[in-house]
Amino acid sequence: MKQNEIMQNTLIEESNLIDFTIDEIGDEHMFTSLETPLKEDAFTLTNEEKKEKISVLFSEIMDVLGLDLTDDSLKGTPDRVAKMYIEEIFSGLDPKNKPKIALFNNTYKYHQMLVEKNISFYSNCEHHFVPIIGKAHIAYISSGKVIGLSKLNRIVQYYAKRPQVQERLTNQIGKELENILDTRDVAVIIEAKHLCVSSRGVKDDTSETVTVYYGGVFNTEAKIRELQGYIKD
Ligand SMILES: [Zn+2]
Repeated sequence: MKQNEIMQNTLIEESNLIDFTIDEIGDEHMFTSLETPLKEDAFTLTNEEKKEKISVLFSEIMDVLGLDLTDDSLKGTPDRVAKMYIEEIFSGLDPKNKPKIALFNNTYKYHQMLVEKNISFYSNCEHHFVPIIGKAHIAYISSGKVIGLSKLNRIVQYYAKRPQVQERLTNQIGKELENILDTRDVAVIIEAKHLCVSSRGVKDDTSETVTVYYGGVFNTEAKIRELQGYIKD
């Protein structure tokens, strides 16, 4: 899908949101924009200040739940959660953690699609803050530049380490690859399990969600079929 089409779809979705309450938006897993909604002052606090604040606030949640924070097993939890949020599972919110990508000339003269499949990732649903566990498959056709294979993986991990919805994750990876590789010929397919669907709510343990981003030549039936042939188990 071309970028402007995605933007259009996003706008359409935004206008569709008018009749929904905040609760419905969350449980239906809709999203409101291609960019992760961040405040203007999102990076005013240092990471250390953020960790201290989150720790205090999380101990309050635990306290409200009735947990005894003097218990040996629990007393370190607020600090652990704060550290995990900032340094690990939400580290992709900080643009400073964006992977540095070096491109190489396509000296191999390889002009077919390159597919990097089964890139496993962990993300978290922005509506429930519970895990999304999935696999991403990425394909591109070189416009003259090539990217190190592990960088494809790192781009997936960077965008996964945010509170996410799967549609946005897919589009963010697709858009980033288009920018870096300077081509529209990019495809992203994501298959994921959402713990907010399996461990709570409707408690469906078998369903998976599939989302796709098809740019440029990947919008043709032949290329889609070719790609799907490579990624099927
Ligand atoms: Zn959710």
